[in-house]
Amino acid sequence: MSLSFDPDQIPLPIGHFIGDRLLESPGLLPLHRPSDGAFYAKCPVASTETVDEAVQTARKALKTSNWGGVRPRERASVLKRWADLIEHEAQALAKVEAISSTRPISQLVAGDIAITAEQIRFFAEFADKEGGDLVPTDDAHLGMIMTEPYGVVGAITPWNFPVNMAGWKLGPALAAGNAVVLKPSEMTPFSSILLAQLAVKAGMPAGLINIVIGDGPTTGAAITGHPDIAKVSFTGSTSAGAAIMANIARTGIKPMTLELGGKSPQIVFADADIDQAAAAISGSILANAGQACVAGSRLIAHFSAVEPLVEAIIARMQAVRAGPTWDAATTYSPIISETQRSRMHTTVRAARAKGAECLTGGEPMEGKGYFYTPTLLAKMDQSSPAITEEIFGPVLTLQTFRTEEEALALADHPTYGLAAGLFTRDVSRVMRITRALPAGTVWVNRYGRSRDHILPTGGYKHSGIGKDLGREAYHANRRSKSVLIQV
Ligand code: NAD
Repeated sequence: MSLSFDPDQIPLPIGHFIGDRLLESPGLLPLHRPSDGAFYAKCPVASTETVDEAVQTARKALKTSNWGGVRPRERASVLKRWADLIEHEAQALAKVEAISSTRPISQLVAGDIAITAEQIRFFAEFADKEGGDLVPTDDAHLGMIMTEPYGVVGAITPWNFPVNMAGWKLGPALAAGNAVVLKPSEMTPFSSILLAQLAVKAGMPAGLINIVIGDGPTTGAAITGHPDIAKVSFTGSTSAGAAIMANIARTGIKPMTLELGGKSPQIVFADADIDQAAAAISGSILANAGQACVAGSRLIAHFSAVEPLVEAIIARMQAVRAGPTWDAATTYSPIISETQRSRMHTTVRAARAKGAECLTGGEPMEGKGYFYTPTLLAKMDQSSPAITEEIFGPVLTLQTFRTEEEALALADHPTYGLAAGLFTRDVSRVMRITRALPAGTVWVNRYGRSRDHILPTGGYKHSGIGKDLGREAYHANRRSKSVLIQV
């Protein structure tokens, strides 16, 4: 059966999900479908009072369910039932997601949603396996490190992979015994509500997941500044991350995890398998039309490898299949909004005005929706806006080098350090360069995350603080208490 569907026929849960109820709320912000530009709904904006109601509901739910104190295996069972339901309802979830987001329906069902269920199961397994420690002391003492949940975690997610990003926040926080108040992006607000409704259906005590819809300055700031939110977990832009840090500093100290922007290099040496490199590099900038934090947006190639590499990448860029996200045949995504598309185009034009040569693309696509042609820009120095800025679109820059030192100097971005790619057959070089790259993730002879969820993700420099995924994400949702007993 085809996954294609009619977006006008899909009901949307417009409101806030607090406890086990959808609180309908008048919409304020007009929403347009990225695929065809059609207006389809208005996004409500939760006030400070609504956020407070969600936080108090979460606190009460923690108390009455004793979620943090039940046998950890029970938490794991509930999370696994939730993951099963997510898989079972994958198409319903994917349809709501495909309307507002840039994610094509077939990629959602086979990718984002399936992976989200898998990651929730992954985090469930930590609940009864990772705990504290007994520490060495003298015979007269017993020393231990106990770990405990924080209480209510505030989570804020971006629009580029909405369900998956919500899963990254909810999975570890809930497995670790916390409750969550989550705000999805105001551009993709509805799929997280479905996710929370499925959790309640799976037997999760109502009130442990609350979804409040709204923008950053109103709803987001009310979450990060709330005195009963014990920890903040954020994924989004570096500028919003900075605003969140400032708000937390102003309203009361609390720990935070920040997963922020990137401008990741991909270094290709002369001895690399060029076909393999071209496939990985073009895949990384074409996936979700470059709207991924880890998009490998800066190609840094040895001068002798440039010609075949560029030819193969351009061929892939020109073969994309753009289409509405509700068409099962679509593989190439639109840009999230007209504003974002024109911002991106302004940067491309500014780079060209400073001398960049456009080898392919460089223009918005004609027709409905906010599509942009896959773009390859060459002949730029480090000051070009196409190199310095996170474009967050299908724009790849090309720079060339002759020596390893030159490659490393180009790869080292002044602002970002999220991920990097390296293509070479020389193992010694792999080790040298991997150690030297200032990035939270290095992929060698491949690019992009696998389904090895044990590998944490997070950035160096302004790309963030702390990690999502992996053991680290679970531990980041518990705090430790040192206990010393005199025997
Ligand atoms: P954004 O920063 O504009 O918004 C992200 C979220 O933050 C939204 O929910 C928004 O409403 C909220 N927000 C904005 N200002 C806020 C404030 N002052 N206080 C509280 N909340 C606020 O980002 P976006 O455009 O939705 O997403 C794209 C960005 O996300 C890119 O920079 C991308 O690199 C980054 N990202 C990073 C990762 C990662 O793992 N490092 C993953 C995905 C996306």
